[in-house]
Parts: sequence; structure tokens; C-alpha cells
Amino acid sequence: MNNQCVYCDSDKFKLCFSNVEDRLGISKRLWTWMRCVNCGSLQCDSLATFSESVLYYPKQYHFSINSKSKLRTLWNILECKIFYQPVLEYSLRILKSIIDVKPEKGTVLDIGCGNGSRISKISSYGYVVEGIDFVEENVYYAKNKLKLNVRQADIEAEGILSKIYSVIMVFWVLEHLVKPKELIKKVYTALLPGGWGIFAVPLADSLSSALLGKSWTQIKEAPRHTNIPTQKGMVLLLNSLGFEKVRIIPALPIESAVDIALSLWPRGLLFKSINRNVFLGIADRIIVGILTAVFFIPVFLLNAIYIKTGLVIFCAQKTDRYL
Ligand SMILES: [Zn+2]
Repeated sequence: MNNQCVYCDSDKFKLCFSNVEDRLGISKRLWTWMRCVNCGSLQCDSLATFSESVLYYPKQYHFSINSKSKLRTLWNILECKIFYQPVLEYSLRILKSIIDVKPEKGTVLDIGCGNGSRISKISSYGYVVEGIDFVEENVYYAKNKLKLNVRQADIEAEGILSKIYSVIMVFWVLEHLVKPKELIKKVYTALLPGGWGIFAVPLADSLSSALLGKSWTQIKEAPRHTNIPTQKGMVLLLNSLGFEKVRIIPALPIESAVDIALSLWPRGLLFKSINRNVFLGIADRIIVGILTAVFFIPVFLLNAIYIKTGLVIFCAQKTDRYL
């Protein structure tokens, strides 16, 4: 583990959770989470580099519609319509309405783009897009099936961002990195003046974190999750690297509701459900769906009164004062 907080550089920690099991059961080790005394961000005693932790990523880590079972494929199409499509639409809404970046302003880069579905959606509205991902199969699919400008790269490596972008999206990546600061630094350098970095992360000082504690699915994602920031930690880090306008918005209510549902019903996790009998796997996903429906309205109402429920998105602008 880093001796210093990866968000605020403080070297004072207190024990937060011990004996945490990997929710996917891939790592047999038990993990410990520490809380930074200064900013409250959480850090796991996980591996030295992201590349080392690759061993703990299962092959089916990301959602894919195609399955050997026809029934499962049909179910996946339904999940896609109900959950993934609105989430992709929301990325577009952030660009168009919340940070108000027009397509002609420049290129949008997605770091950790997965199979390219997010940038595919964004490009259909006229934006020029690029993507980076470390999973070979994802990059192959994005390049060959979706015809996108996507390349495979280790995001911890030097020199991965050699161009300048108007927006750089980093969705659900920072919490996997041992040195998130290094990636945010690269993002800042690769942005046009006035450009935006968009960072989606689980939030350590959210209601879900407080209520679910050690059972929060984001905590049990150790060792693939190495850190979880607080609002204070992220704002301190973004400001220290030069970003001046920082906004925090909740993720879609359905995302934070699913996050709660998976904490309460971990058998419904994608990796677990696809490696079980098709009927039992779908039954577990239906239970997750029912729990999501139960928590959707409370999450929606809490977000409306500015209470953060679990998953958030930081939008940070590189100001153009030096132009
Ligand atoms: Zn800290």
C-alpha cells in the first residue's frame, strides 16, 4: 500500500475494514482497507501496480450481450435496454448539457473505454472520439465491429496521451489504480485550455458507503479496487493538479440503486451469474433487478436533495486563463 494518501498526500491513516473477501472469489487473500485521517479517502493494502493486479481480473469482467445460451443472450438484451442504454445516454447528456461541449470543439477521449459502446453512442451525435483500453478483446471489438479509433495501452505507462483533447472521460478507472494522481496529471496535460476531465468514481463519503460499510460492493471489489476517494480528497487532488472548476454530480439513480442491490445480493454479480446454471444465473439477476427497483426512488429523491448515494461523477475544467 502507498504510505501516503493517493488523494491528499497525508501519511496518517486509521484502520477501516479488515478481513475483506474478494466479492468475485478470485483472490483467496483477505484485504484491509485504511481511511486517510485528513481527507477520509479509503485505501486498500493491495498490489504494487495495476499491471500486477491484472491477474485478479476474470475474462468476463465486462458486460457482453453475446452468450452461448440463447436464453441468456435474450436476457442480456433486456438488461442492455433497461440499464446500459440509459447509462450511455447519460454520458452524452453530461457532454451536451452539463459541461456544454459542442462536437466541433475537438476530440473526446475515453480512457478505459471497454468495448467502445460509450464513445460509439457519443460519436453518433457528431463528436470525434477516441478510446484506450487495456483488454485486447475489448479493443478488437471496438475497432473491428464498431469501427472506432481505439487502441490498446497500459494506462499506467508513460507517453500514452500524445495528442490534445477537448474532453477526457475516465469512467470507473481511478479506483483501480495504485497511483490515480499520475493518470489525472496526464489527463490535465492532454487537455485543451477550457477542456474537461470527467471522472466517475464510487464515493467513500456517500450514504451507501456509510450504511453498507464492509458489505458495500465497492469495498469487496478489492484487490481490483485499490482506493475510493471522498469528495474532499478528489477536489484537493484535482485542484492541486491545476483543475480550477470542479463539479460533482450523482451518477444515474439506476446505477447507484444497482450498486446497493449488488451489495445486498452479491450472487447477482455479472461474473458469478454467468458462471452458474443459466436459469439460476438469470434468477439472481432478476433479484438484483427487483432490489434495484426498490431502491431507485429513494436514491432519486436523495440525489434531488444533494445527498450522494454511492456513485458520482466529477467534472473538472482546465481553465483558459493562460490563453
Ligand atoms: Zn487523504
